[in-house]
Amino acid sequence: MVRQSSRKAAQAKTKATAAVAQGESESKVEVDTKTPKRKAARIEPEADGEDAENIDPVEENDGGTKPAVKKRKAASKKDVDDTMPLAARTAVTSLKHAMHIGAHVSGAGGVQNAIQNAAHIGANAFALFLKSQRKWTSPPLADEAKTQFHAMLEQHGYDARKHILPHGSYLVNLAQADAAKATQAYDNFVDDLQRCEALGIGLYNFHPGSTGGTTMDSACARIAEQLNKAHKATSTVVTLIENMCGSGNVVGSRFEDLRDIIALVEDKSRVGVCIDTCHAFAAGYDLRTPEAFAKTMAEFDSVVGLKYLRAFHLNDSKAPFNSHRDLHANIGTGFLGLRAFHNIMNHAPLQGMPMVLETPIDEKGPDGKTVENKQIWADEIKLLESLIGMDVESAEFREKEAELQAKGAAERQKIQLQVDKKAEKDAKKGTKGKKGKKKTDEDSYDESD
Ligand SMILES: [Zn+2]
Ligand SMILES: [Zn+2]
Repeated sequence: MVRQSSRKAAQAKTKATAAVAQGESESKVEVDTKTPKRKAARIEPEADGEDAENIDPVEENDGGTKPAVKKRKAASKKDVDDTMPLAARTAVTSLKHAMHIGAHVSGAGGVQNAIQNAAHIGANAFALFLKSQRKWTSPPLADEAKTQFHAMLEQHGYDARKHILPHGSYLVNLAQADAAKATQAYDNFVDDLQRCEALGIGLYNFHPGSTGGTTMDSACARIAEQLNKAHKATSTVVTLIENMCGSGNVVGSRFEDLRDIIALVEDKSRVGVCIDTCHAFAAGYDLRTPEAFAKTMAEFDSVVGLKYLRAFHLNDSKAPFNSHRDLHANIGTGFLGLRAFHNIMNHAPLQGMPMVLETPIDEKGPDGKTVENKQIWADEIKLLESLIGMDVESAEFREKEAELQAKGAAERQKIQLQVDKKAEKDAKKGTKGKKGKKKTDEDSYDESD
């Protein structure tokens, strides 16, 4: 089992590398989410946590796989951006709406480094991984890291209770039906929650998981059961379920899934939702026009309840509406477009929530190597803040909108072609009967971020 998975991992790695060569992948974004034969690949250039190595960009949610380890940590890579900030943080009080915008930054070298990395890009909120997101076990949170985390919080004035949103491990599937694997998932999950509480962090975001071929109802019940247990083992941190873009075995692409989990959570004060804009759009929830945005928010309210909405992941989408593909695009360059983000920025009820960019920042350096350009996040934060109170009919807005759409045109066209081709293929397949009902986790549970 392990050997076979390693082989698969190696194959997927080759594909991931190929994708990079084509300039197709971006940081923390899956390449393909639907086709079983094309195993999803994640490209994550930096090792998070205290790792001295990088882990291959492949993960299973299922615990059966040991990721291949590649020792290629660049000696020169710095864990902390302690140079001149790329942008100054905007005083949230100066904004017409108190929007706390930031990005998923690196906590490599210790969680305390994430604070400086966030400040460096002018973020007023941020996400991070609390430990290596690709390993089942990590060393406990170091006292030193904890002390420094609190000191850095003080120095930079972030409210850990409200504006830091750690992201759960990609390995964890709380819907896991297998008892031993469910325990492994739970242990990892509750360990993260305990880290949150040690650091004074109030919110924690995770992917609901995969049914593994069981019914959606039973999967939601297992997730709720795990949450109940984890809530009892901890005392304050609020667990936020992220909406997903997929269909099939993935839990959470419909608001109804989120509702069904929350319904079975005993302590409702400990559960909420984080909406990823790219996932919502790809799952068929439109956000582009004020009317569509209002409709989606109203649907969320009637199905789940607005009081559960606690955070956002702000990503544009390289894939078209309802395509069930998870391809994050830079703000304004994707199929969502700048207007969708204008809608969000000007929706007063969303004030005070952490809003986290997971947009691609990888660029090809002059030597052909991929480098991260964090200026992209610094600029996107300022762009989003500038949308607050902006008139969409103004020349300023229209020019920016056109400029960003032009920038993403080729990429959108490319993905649109892929989606159209797949739809054509599926339509042909449909006449020959549907493919096998029982899909494995591996085939279906491959969303990212
Ligand atoms: Zn996520
Ligand atoms: Zn995603």
